[in-house]
Amino acid sequence: MSTKRDYYEILAVAKSASQDEIKKAYRKVAMQFHPDRNPNNKEAEEKFKEAAEAYEVLSDPDKRAQYDRFGHAGMNGNRGGGYGGGGMNMDDIFSNFGDIFGNDDIFGSFFGGGGARGGGNRRGRGTRGSNLRVKIRLTYEEIAKGANKKIKVKKYVPCQHCGGLGAKDKNAFQSCNTCGGSGQVRKVTQTFLGQMQTVTTCPTCHGEGQIITSKCGHCKGEGRMYGEEMVSIDIPAGVQEGMQLSMSGKGNAGERGGAPGDLLILIEEEPHQELQRDGLNVAYDLHISFPDAVYGTSLEVPTIDGKAKIKIPAGTQSGKIFRLKGKGFPSVNSYEKGDQLIHVNVWTPQHVSAEEKEMLDKLQSSDNFKPNPEKSEKGFFEKVRDIFS
Ligand SMILES: [Zn+2]
Ligand SMILES: [Zn+2]
Repeated sequence: MSTKRDYYEILAVAKSASQDEIKKAYRKVAMQFHPDRNPNNKEAEEKFKEAAEAYEVLSDPDKRAQYDRFGHAGMNGNRGGGYGGGGMNMDDIFSNFGDIFGNDDIFGSFFGGGGARGGGNRRGRGTRGSNLRVKIRLTYEEIAKGANKKIKVKKYVPCQHCGGLGAKDKNAFQSCNTCGGSGQVRKVTQTFLGQMQTVTTCPTCHGEGQIITSKCGHCKGEGRMYGEEMVSIDIPAGVQEGMQLSMSGKGNAGERGGAPGDLLILIEEEPHQELQRDGLNVAYDLHISFPDAVYGTSLEVPTIDGKAKIKIPAGTQSGKIFRLKGKGFPSVNSYEKGDQLIHVNVWTPQHVSAEEKEMLDKLQSSDNFKPNPEKSEKGFFEKVRDIFS
């Protein structure tokens, strides 16, 4: 944290840069290190996050002023709770600044009449809440069928006393004097290109157009409080370790009536005692005794959907693979279903009694017990074709 680079240096702008210079510079850096253009490039990702953090501060007149006075030290505890600790995450960047990557917005709102910005979160009431991330651990059985999980999420919830607005009552609002209620202020600056009009978010009301004259005493005007909510999450069948589901609006409540963030659900798989997932298929190691391999047998094997009965034919070789068709995982986005592959291992005892040794000595000299793979053994792919259904 102590080796943080200067925000102006990150965006390669002068200390005196205007808001639109900062926005253009950020767009350039963000495009250069955008994860879509730099897949699996950790360094680019760090640069992308670093630029977003610099832009977050320099694009906000209040935060910028504070940064100019106190440097990075002035930024701690001033980050709205959204990106505490190790800086911003990718979801925050896209949800807060995603519109900077659109083509229509970049110049449109700076010149001309300062028209409405579609989808921007700075306009209108309040500030959007940040996204939250939770992990959910599922057994193979739950993944096979799909699951409903009810979890308690600790997060910001709307203040019950003021309905999330942060004001004492309906009459505790007043139009902002600084911006006349528009939420934006215009500044005319001289540049080498001539006179330029820039429009920035009003520093007094933070773009909301109104200010609260009498704050709600319970939430101190924030419109939200730290609490918890029971969230019911429907998980579709077939999800996989590392997948992320998103529930819109179930993240942190926004400030002063702002839209809530999203709840991001990271899927984890609970390892199974006997089965091993391989994409849509499930692998199972079956151990059978030597006499069973010779005579054949029927037995039960575990599957992700209870037990299944199978018949092992007489003369089954170790290494043979049987397939239980359709007993694998369902695909999360199609009607496809995997299979269960049963790998046969013939168990070899490690110690034998004197009596057993006598029997084995007889078998050892028998021609019928000498391996003869040409006659009986099929190749690997042929082996897989043997199917139970
Ligand atoms: Zn309140
Ligand atoms: Zn204002």
